[in-house]
Amino acid sequence: HKITVAIDGYSGCGKSTTARLVADALQYTYLDTGAMYRAVTHYFLENHVDWNDADAVAAALPRIRVSFGERRADGGRDTLLNGANVEDAIRSMAVSSKVSEVSAVPAVRRFLVAQQQQIGQAKGVVAEGRDMGTHVFPEAELKVFVTADMDVRAERRQAELQAKGQDVSLQEIRDNLTHRDRIDTSRDDTPLRQADDAEVLDTTHLTIPQQVAWVVERART
Ligand code: C5P
Repeated sequence: HKITVAIDGYSGCGKSTTARLVADALQYTYLDTGAMYRAVTHYFLENHVDWNDADAVAAALPRIRVSFGERRADGGRDTLLNGANVEDAIRSMAVSSKVSEVSAVPAVRRFLVAQQQQIGQAKGVVAEGRDMGTHVFPEAELKVFVTADMDVRAERRQAELQAKGQDVSLQEIRDNLTHRDRIDTSRDDTPLRQADDAEVLDTTHLTIPQQVAWVVERART
């Protein structure tokens, strides 16, 4: 029978890659909730919406529709904002540097959590983010909390950006990861924390196939 797999953890620990490949292996739907927060952040930046202004946020949210494109060969799906492909734009440092501030706005979280729970109603979902096991899918049968050493996280993220033609220094990436972790763990509204019933996956010394196997094995038992 199909279950819900909730994957949470710090930024840059390999959550997305692992979640996408686990979904592939189980033939489940991969739900990248970080992409949804990134798409909203991109919209706010492009349209000069001040996310500290509750009225401006309330007026903007109904204009935002986040969806996902067709399955790509690598198992991922491009993120669409009002139908336009924003997959590259939402991975930029411009978005990365603001996304945690935007994600701390309760109205933004309510808006996206409702959509995430809607998608999750169909069983057979690998949901990945910061509050999957603690808030969005508290009943998930398998909860994984991913960690890794900061240096490894920064190096992996740098390689990822490099592959997309973005040259970013290790220091800038480390600062961004630290900044996001700090905001994500300290916001009032459903902060990032390990669910009591989550199992910890430390990816510091693991390859991607090892990480995937670790989760798939637990999802199948
Ligand atoms: O997973 P990713 O690094 O793309 O997420 C980007 C940001 O979105 C996180 O740093 C966090 O601030 C926010 N986020 C969140 N809740 C989630 C997923 C992401 O607050 N469920």
